[in-house]
Amino acid sequence: MTTLKEALQLDKSQLQELRTELKKKIEEKKDLNAYVGFEEIGDGVPVAIKDNIQVKNWSVTSASEILQGYLAPYNATVIEKMLAAGLSPFGRTNMDEFAMGSTTESSFYGKTLNPANTSRVPGGSSGGSAAAVAGGIAIAALGSDTGGSIRQPAAYCGVVGMKPTYGRVSRYGLAAYASSLDQIGPITQNVEDAAILYDIISGSDEKDSTNAQRDDKVSEKLDPTRKLTIGIIPSHLEEADSDIQKAYDKTIEALQRAGHTIKEVSLLDAKYDISAYYITATAEAATNLGRYDGIRYGNRAEASNLNELYINTRSGGFGDEVKRRILLGNFVLSSGYYDAYYVKAQKVRHLIKDEYAKVFEEVDLILSPVAPTVAPKFGELATPMQMYLSDMYTISVNLAGLPALSLPVMKNDAGLPVGLQLIAKPYDEQTLFDGSLSLEQELIN
Ligand code: GLN
Repeated sequence: MTTLKEALQLDKSQLQELRTELKKKIEEKKDLNAYVGFEEIGDGVPVAIKDNIQVKNWSVTSASEILQGYLAPYNATVIEKMLAAGLSPFGRTNMDEFAMGSTTESSFYGKTLNPANTSRVPGGSSGGSAAAVAGGIAIAALGSDTGGSIRQPAAYCGVVGMKPTYGRVSRYGLAAYASSLDQIGPITQNVEDAAILYDIISGSDEKDSTNAQRDDKVSEKLDPTRKLTIGIIPSHLEEADSDIQKAYDKTIEALQRAGHTIKEVSLLDAKYDISAYYITATAEAATNLGRYDGIRYGNRAEASNLNELYINTRSGGFGDEVKRRILLGNFVLSSGYYDAYYVKAQKVRHLIKDEYAKVFEEVDLILSPVAPTVAPKFGELATPMQMYLSDMYTISVNLAGLPALSLPVMKNDAGLPVGLQLIAKPYDEQTLFDGSLSLEQELIN
């Protein structure tokens, strides 16, 4: 498949050819269900867009029944930035409903298959975007990452996924899941493409009050020859299965071969991450999803009075996972439990951030698993709790607002991709991409 870097060099007629060829392939690989609809605008370099990012006049539904029929009234800032750089939104990718999930099974449009093995989940929530890139039916795609939703599907499908520092990329036009954690980011075929797409979508935006208003770019300055100190966290590996442990060891060797210094570090037990995340994320989600009331957006159920209208619209429009999280979020915010759960989670969140800051006084990057296993089979994560636990390695990065990049490092004996992530300090995307590129080159050679 043509890379993003290559596609940016093509002239108009070559691009037209590429777009036609892509459309044909998308049709041929319809069974993957990576796309939930096909719309396109412009004639630039085609990039697939997750179904929670607004593209003016396109349907945008967050893969939910409640938003069927809703058309985006404006472009998200990332879309404006893409258009200005000669990139064009090309197709809508599948996702877990409202980005809540780790498998893309909770989509209103049905599950997406993992191109590496179609009996396996592609990960989530940006499973459609990762499957499209891995399946050769997208050059690159946008996803969103609240607790791992870019990095984990990238790891399960064998592609590169990058979550920027919180505030680097404008959230204007992204359907909010948990506003203090959400970031849009690239899913691509390689590290350099991720840097290019990250450069295009990141930067200042007055329309997002949490935007960092920083415009420094990385892709022109990529330097894989820098020698870095990379932290490893052996205590965290105990909960990972043998494929992941093997990949971790091999990656440490590759980093050493590339001339980096490895240093053992420790972080809080990941079980605290899961508790703090699922309290914070559900609290914010319950609040954010209050707007889907049947009055302002999308679907409206039949009812004889206002109260009934809210109840019928929300009961019929949201899927089970979304309802579970709204209930949990309202519970942890309720007056009797606010201090015991929500406030405590915020304290733990601070602790996690401080821990990372301490570790980053000693190292440039941290190497971590993305998930405790390779992509599970459909239905394997039988309970919501099992699914939440599988997020143990990704969510602390969001709680601390850090940038991280997941890249494929190995295949297991069954041919399933294993991805690991590098994590950097806030706003140090340059080091994140430099180190990732160095690792990618070492693994290819
Ligand atoms: N799996 C996590 C969750 O369900 C993360 C999702 C995401 O990053 N959007 O909340």
